[in-house]
Amino acid sequence: SQPRTINNVVCWDGIEVDITKQKLIEDELIRARDKAEKNEIQLNAILEKSPTGFAINKISTGEVTYVNKAFADAYHIPIELCTNVSTFFEYVYGDQMEMANKILDDINSNDPERMKWEVVPITEKKTKEIFYVTASNMMLRKLDLMISTVTDITSQVRNEGELKKAKEKAEESGEKFRKLSANVPDLIFQFTRRPDGSYYVPIASDGIKNVFGCSPEDVLDSFEPIAKVIHPEDADRVISDIEYSATHLAYFTSEFRVQIPGREIQWIYSRSTPEKLDDGSITWYGFNVNITQRKKIEDELIKAKEKAEESDRLKSAFLANMSHEIRTPMNGILGFTNLLLQPDLSGEEQEKYIDIIKKSGDRMLTTVNDIIDISRIEAGLEELNASEININEQMNYLYSFFKPEAEKKGIKLVYKNELAEKEHGIVTDPDKFNSILTNLIKNAIKYTEKGVVEFGYALINKDQTQELKFYIKDTGIGIPKNRQKAIFDRFVQADIEDIQAKQGSGLGLAISKAYAEMMGGNIWVDSKEGKGSTFYFSIKQMPVSKAKPSIIDNQIKEEENLREKLNILVVEDDETSQQFISLVLEKLANKIIMVQSGLEAVEISKKDTEIHLILMDIQLPGMNGYEATKEIRKFNKEVIIIAQTAYALAGDKEKAIEAGCNDYITKPINQEELVYLIKKYWEK
Ligand code: ADP
Repeated sequence: SQPRTINNVVCWDGIEVDITKQKLIEDELIRARDKAEKNEIQLNAILEKSPTGFAINKISTGEVTYVNKAFADAYHIPIELCTNVSTFFEYVYGDQMEMANKILDDINSNDPERMKWEVVPITEKKTKEIFYVTASNMMLRKLDLMISTVTDITSQVRNEGELKKAKEKAEESGEKFRKLSANVPDLIFQFTRRPDGSYYVPIASDGIKNVFGCSPEDVLDSFEPIAKVIHPEDADRVISDIEYSATHLAYFTSEFRVQIPGREIQWIYSRSTPEKLDDGSITWYGFNVNITQRKKIEDELIKAKEKAEESDRLKSAFLANMSHEIRTPMNGILGFTNLLLQPDLSGEEQEKYIDIIKKSGDRMLTTVNDIIDISRIEAGLEELNASEININEQMNYLYSFFKPEAEKKGIKLVYKNELAEKEHGIVTDPDKFNSILTNLIKNAIKYTEKGVVEFGYALINKDQTQELKFYIKDTGIGIPKNRQKAIFDRFVQADIEDIQAKQGSGLGLAISKAYAEMMGGNIWVDSKEGKGSTFYFSIKQMPVSKAKPSIIDNQIKEEENLREKLNILVVEDDETSQQFISLVLEKLANKIIMVQSGLEAVEISKKDTEIHLILMDIQLPGMNGYEATKEIRKFNKEVIIIAQTAYALAGDKEKAIEAGCNDYITKPINQEELVYLIKKYWEK
């Protein structure tokens, strides 16, 4: 209103306008301004503190209108230089124009996709170190503004780099480990027990395939593939050893068996050292080795040691028994010889004593022969000498030989011959064949008190080869099951303090077994205690080419008168033997000349051309029997020379023949055999 004075009265002229609306608008504006200011302050505070860098610049001029500290820091540029885009570029990318151009290109492309840069490596202006940022730009062209954001990612990138490097290094050393361990057939491992008690194997060499049958990957997280192949009888022990090692942090060592399906059981030796980890796990580093071979050798050594001890024991027992087997008949011989010397013995008594002496002598000879046979077998000196024999004749001979002995005991002896005559021939070693059969029939009679002893044989054609199976069946004492294998072992009879064993060396069956096996066959027994036994043995036909003519199939016949009496030269240095031979030869000889050395024998043969037969001892003082024979043969090819030796060793016969002898006889000389031999040559 406008004042004026009228009549000294001041008065105002004016108008009144309603400004309420205006006032309201004003208030709102003030509030909006305050709010905006407040927002801006808040926004600024946020932006200032933000780890993300922000900058706003005008697109047209490049003038920077806002920049926060994080932005300058991220680009390693002093904030006061961030006034203009070009100054910024100049500073930051001055040395990296290529990068700068690429970024500018991206910006100018107007393609929002190209405005984001995940990892931008920038060389720091001063230190020349590389730092990394992630950046993005937004263009607000209508407002002529570009908003840039940036984050410093140097530490992440570095960490990632470290991580990658560490990973690469680990991979490299893993690779080295694989290469190193690839040629080791055993298992090298790291093995861990988690705090919850479960196990896994973070590192395992390829050898795990050999040891546990699984791959390193199979056990990376689990122990199951290993647990399931550890032998059930060893598993508890292994686990408790591991637990002990874990509790005491003592090294783990164990030997256990592993059974992988389809493979043989293997023995494994495991050794490792434990370490406690920060998280409470325990981890072991170590190795597993397959020791199956070592175990086998160990077992064999233990067995061999036990066997050696056992055979030592058996041999002592054997010697004791042999001593007994030689002393007993020896006592008989000496004792009854003394008795024989008594005057006034009746003829009957004399006969009885002589019979005992003869039986004792026979028994001793059997023992000595058995010992020689078994020694030959053990020394590998026994060989096969094949010839064609007629089995039936042999069996008949043995039948008539043993019949009187069986009858004397009240036992019936039966020989069953069910084969056709042409099937009776076989090529084999007659001596060994006879020895087996004789031994088995002898035993059958020996161990039977009443009933029947029956023997016979059958022909078996097995894959083209002819095989004969013999049986000797008795109704005797039988053999307990647990002894049926042992009786074929040498020395065993000696060991058993056997109530069942009658007198005998206990070698007979061992010899028979060795012979049967040499002849391509076998020997076995089927027996029931108290009921009786059946012994079986088989032999194979030997190739005919190996056969030599044999004298064994000629039985010793009853003594016949010779056409003429003989002049016999006996070369023998032992007086008892001389006497014995003289007695034996009495009936056959016209004249007996006794000499004691090889030299004498040669000399007398030169002078006396009427000598028909020479019985040549081999072991002689000075010139031995072989040498003497050779000498004699130089001037006399006709005279029959029969070698006599006490050794009965393999090769003696061959040596005698080679030296020029016609035949060979073992001492002590069996009268019938000698007569048979002489006749054989004389009747030719
Ligand atoms: P020995 O010289 O003692 O007879 P062997 O080797 O011939 O030796 O026999 C060994 C053992 O086998 C004998 O001691 C005996 O215990 C047993 N034996 C052998 N043959 C028979 C059989 N026909 N009946 C019962 N036992 C037998």
